[in-house]
Amino acid sequence: MSKLSRKNHDDYLFPNYAPLALMPEQAKGARLWDTDQKEYVDFAAGVAVSSLGHCHPELIKVLQEQANKFWHVSNLLTTRPAIELAKQLVEVSFADKVIFSNSGAEANEAALKLARRFAVDHHGADKHEIIAFDNSFHGRTFFTVCVGGQAKYSDGFGPKPQGIKHLPFNDADALAATISEKTCAVILEPIQGEGGVVPATKEFLHKARQLCDEYGALLIFDEIQTGLMRTGNLFCYQGLEVEPDILTLAKGLGGGFPIGAMLARQQVAESFSVGVHGTTFGGNPMACAVASKVIELVNIEEMQQGVKHNSELLKNGLHQLNKEHPFFVEMRGSGLLIGCELSEAFAQRANDVVAAALEQGLLMLVAGPNVARFAPPLVATERDIEEGLYRLGLALSSFEP
Ligand code: PLP
Repeated sequence: MSKLSRKNHDDYLFPNYAPLALMPEQAKGARLWDTDQKEYVDFAAGVAVSSLGHCHPELIKVLQEQANKFWHVSNLLTTRPAIELAKQLVEVSFADKVIFSNSGAEANEAALKLARRFAVDHHGADKHEIIAFDNSFHGRTFFTVCVGGQAKYSDGFGPKPQGIKHLPFNDADALAATISEKTCAVILEPIQGEGGVVPATKEFLHKARQLCDEYGALLIFDEIQTGLMRTGNLFCYQGLEVEPDILTLAKGLGGGFPIGAMLARQQVAESFSVGVHGTTFGGNPMACAVASKVIELVNIEEMQQGVKHNSELLKNGLHQLNKEHPFFVEMRGSGLLIGCELSEAFAQRANDVVAAALEQGLLMLVAGPNVARFAPPLVATERDIEEGLYRLGLALSSFEP
């Protein structure tokens, strides 16, 4: 292997990312080692992706088995792994049909196109408006950044797609005042992830469902970050007792192998008739084989209990740390998606907290400049959680005078 290091990143790669100082060499479970053999506890899981930890033996096994059969055939052919995964997703959700993509943004892009197409098919072109929410994040294609509620991602690229309205999140009155016969879809994250780990209230979601039914609009839940047991239910909506018409998934679905999916009921799915939408890699057999195993492994009582247990352990530990070093004023989220809104002393310094944690051997996340985010693998052990908290404590001490 060549001697390339983190420093060489900037020599060859586009400047759009600003990777952290370490470069990984090896990872296992909730631990990662860099090229200098320094160990890190992983409370980031590749941004809420590696739910089963790194290098899970059963995922390696199915990946190797599929790698020895065939890697790619495109959607000119259907494959057993794709059908099997779609069947599993249908059986565990509200949906009747599934379409695969390669990322979360593409799953949402498909969902937005489907909502527009369904409205054209059933109501005419006038019904094209999409309602989204401030601070939401739905991906980085141009349609999805424009639907997302953060101008920093959508501005500066010239004219935007039309017919998108943004409202304050959790504001049922604003939604009631804005939704109309022209609305084709309302899209939201049941817990806003990148926007600061902000949960939707049950009342807001129920109202959104009721208003969508009243106005014939589709309700889209973006569960790209919250899906696949991350919040303690296979899908976050299951704990909220509100079903969407369209659901998007990615991140945890492939356990680290890139894959996205959109789920919908039969009548909605029919608007994607032959040729209306597609992608070369969507439903890739390697990705589908791994994702099938991920669902099998996460959708069990034991995993749900494990997430609950780890969540309590992490939340209690963070509260304990906060007594010694008051770094947050509010804790939000569910399961193993937890956000801490920083206190005055740490205000707007989430990135500095991450850098200090890194120094101490802890990988963690931000959710905007003022929220520290924790999303460890669901399978992290008690030892991993305790060690991560200990290292966070050391990092917080380094902020004090
Ligand atoms: N939607 C949500 C809620 C997300 O958190 C993300 C990624 O962070 C996306 C969409 C975009 O997914 P991807 O980065 O795979 O395109």
